[in-house]
Amino acid sequence: MIEAKGVAILGATGSIGESALAVLDQHPERFRAVALTANRNVPGLRALVERHQPRIAVLADAGASESLLGGGATRWATGREALIEAATHPDVDIVLNALVGAAGLEPTLAALRAGKRVALANKESLVCGGPLVLRAAAEGGGELMPVDSEHSAIFQCIQGSRASEVQRLILTASGGPFRSASPDRLAEVRPGDALRHPTWDMGAKITIDSATLANKALEVIEAHFLFGVPYGRIEAVVHPQSIIHSMVEFADGSVLAQMGFPTMEIPVLYALSYPERLPYTCRRFDPVAAGALTFEPVREDCFPAFRLGVAAGLAGGCAPAVFNAANEIAVAAFLEGRVSFPGIASAIEDTLERWSGGEIASLGDVLEADAWARRTAKTFIGNQVLC
Ligand code: NAD
Ligand code: MG
Repeated sequence: MIEAKGVAILGATGSIGESALAVLDQHPERFRAVALTANRNVPGLRALVERHQPRIAVLADAGASESLLGGGATRWATGREALIEAATHPDVDIVLNALVGAAGLEPTLAALRAGKRVALANKESLVCGGPLVLRAAAEGGGELMPVDSEHSAIFQCIQGSRASEVQRLILTASGGPFRSASPDRLAEVRPGDALRHPTWDMGAKITIDSATLANKALEVIEAHFLFGVPYGRIEAVVHPQSIIHSMVEFADGSVLAQMGFPTMEIPVLYALSYPERLPYTCRRFDPVAAGALTFEPVREDCFPAFRLGVAAGLAGGCAPAVFNAANEIAVAAFLEGRVSFPGIASAIEDTLERWSGGEIASLGDVLEADAWARRTAKTFIGNQVLC
């Protein structure tokens, strides 16, 4: 009999966390929740703890009230150190990192150094600290598994091939809710409009990133580090139906694509079960119901965040961390009505223009660049006058 693998779900109360718990529910003999974490959603985490009975439950926000925390078989803890403890717990084999933003980097590093498999939904880990993440995996014996649907698709397509045979990665993008919108319309976009994604139901930050196409730039950088492919051989194409999750072109000109109706449960399951494929009950693919599959170029003039992010990737060092931090600040400001939709890209552009460069030798370099970019983007946004 195979012993169930212990899983830590960092960000269990979020959208990916929900998909992950649905996967665990279908395979209790293979996976059990050992650690569940949330930021400050006490009722949400409490409900998950009652249902899944993990060893440890963590509220990452140290301000979350201890008095609200229950007893039982689960040990409750708060703060960033407790989050790291969950990611490195001895009973944990697999860490699903489903945190949002640069906050995910340190748990990723800690888990890889502790030799865990990291099923990585938190793309910002690789964007901010790609070289550090790869080094932590090599030194600690940890293993990175993509969860992002595009990267899971690429990972599935390259199984059985040599790295030297991979010619080009083609990431698909839904194009978001404003795929065909005019620049005038984009200037008027409100948070409620941007939060209505046409094909995926996700957390607020990634939904806005999908609308600005910053998400696709983050994913180009993520693919560069995950698959070791140079930026010149990674492309993005708009595919509004979100059926083809990405494609790989090989040396002989053959192109493989991975497809299916949009769901994050399949990529999560594959990241947990790899190299095995386990049975799974879900809506099965129906090509006729999927209908026509279409492709369009990315409109870089209307969605400058994409171009800015890819340029930051190419610049290397801490530039991607600066891009990411400015984007996080700008997205939060947009959601609070403090900056316009086009203002998100303007804040990123202004911050990157002021950045004088810097290499990544240590986590300290990333944290410094991240803090600098947050301050700079806040100043830019503070100086904007919204009509
Ligand atoms: P979400 O907002 O729905 O959930 C985020 C989770 O992380 C919650 O449990 C929240 O409590 C916790 N959290 C938030 N900020 C935190 C912090 N600073 N410290 C500790 N915990 C914190 O987000 P999501 O949509 O599930 O996305 C999670 C990650 O997965 C992101 O990096 C996103 O880009 C990536 N991703 C998401 C999807 C998707 O379909 N939702 C698809 C691909 C990739
Ligand atoms: Mg994706």
